[in-house]
Amino acid sequence: MSFSTSVTEVMPTTLSPQGVDLEQVCQQFSTPLYLYDADIIIRQIEALKNAFTYPKTKFKYAAKALTNISILKLIRQQGIDLDVVSIQEGHIALKAGFTPKQIMYTPSGVPFAEIDEAIELGFQMNVDSLPLLRYIGERYGNTVPCCLRLNPDIRAGGHAKISVGHNESKFGIALSQLDLVVDVVKQYGITINGLHIHTGSDIKDPKVFAQGAQRLYAAAQHFPDLQFIDFGSGFKVAYKEGDIATDIPQLARLMEDSFQEFCQQYGRELEMWFEPGKFIVSDSGYLLTEVTVVKENPGIDFVHVDTGLNHLLRPMMYDAYHDIVNVSNPEGAQQPYHVVGYICETDNLAEGRMIAEVRPGDILAIKNAGAYGFSMASNYNSRLRPAEVLIHQGEAKLIRQRETMDDILQNQIELPL
Ligand SMILES: *Cc1c(COP(=O)(O)O)cnc(C)c1O
Repeated sequence: MSFSTSVTEVMPTTLSPQGVDLEQVCQQFSTPLYLYDADIIIRQIEALKNAFTYPKTKFKYAAKALTNISILKLIRQQGIDLDVVSIQEGHIALKAGFTPKQIMYTPSGVPFAEIDEAIELGFQMNVDSLPLLRYIGERYGNTVPCCLRLNPDIRAGGHAKISVGHNESKFGIALSQLDLVVDVVKQYGITINGLHIHTGSDIKDPKVFAQGAQRLYAAAQHFPDLQFIDFGSGFKVAYKEGDIATDIPQLARLMEDSFQEFCQQYGRELEMWFEPGKFIVSDSGYLLTEVTVVKENPGIDFVHVDTGLNHLLRPMMYDAYHDIVNVSNPEGAQQPYHVVGYICETDNLAEGRMIAEVRPGDILAIKNAGAYGFSMASNYNSRLRPAEVLIHQGEAKLIRQRETMDDILQNQIELPL
């Protein structure tokens, strides 16, 4: 794997979301700790709403990015619907107050028993395979309106593992099999009320969405009952200074123009959906960790912290870059460090990274940890998963307790050997 080395001098800044003192928060709730700033989540949602002027635009937050029930409630309050990828996410969503109609259920190859449950709960179905479409037809006839997840065969996205919209990816029904889809739809009289694509994550170029859109518009002629077209997400955010993020206003203009043109041809104004996950929550999150040991190796110093790939998998899984700030010593001289976790596994969080001088006991803030941070955390090495705290209206509030040893043992069965 490769890590980029930041060579630019970073100006000392005090990191203090909504004026909250991060060292104090760590004292109160202990480390490691996931901390989210509600204002940033609201700001991101506003940016989306302001960029799109087409009145039938809808956003379905991809819950898998960060699934804490309090976060889901906050997002619901902002008028955002939901996309869930498992029945469990669906249940959390209902608990957070979303109505079944607000929930798009996008499974990928799940057992059909779970499909039955999702249909019973009344979620909007998003069908990702021909066998699933046949199953729904056979069992439910024409009673369950379905959206089709189509695979546009576009290769895009920041990393091979998050590029999911091409023919060698497992996701969706290949556009080249549209004839077969149409046959099944006719055979059972299934109402197709939506078309969907999701081409991957970290898509910088709005033209990728426009290209996918053209393929959906062409497919739409086969389906007279459409109510919406869902363009998925993968909006990129900036992980470091100078990073190119998806230009949302530019995307909005590009999509709205072609969408309105398409609707005219189609004969009806449809809803235009997007499913941003990372864009809404990434910036809001910090993984706060305490420095355990500073190991002065020949060449470079290693900073060990009380977290690792069990809590933040993205650097090892996707070669992701996460900015790291020394909260305890913002004025310290910048030096290069390898920041590494406490897991028995190579779990580098950053390599050769310039950080203000680090001392044992310092608090480091790992930034952009809101999306795919806690939601991908595990108990590897029998470590406890962190607490989660939401800063809401200037106050830091606990939204998930730190796990305890009981959580680790609770489902284990000790045989009388
Ligand atoms: C994960 C996912 C998203 C969100 O992707 P982001 O890169 O977080 O915006 C949207 N739609 C579907 C179907 C997904 O699986």
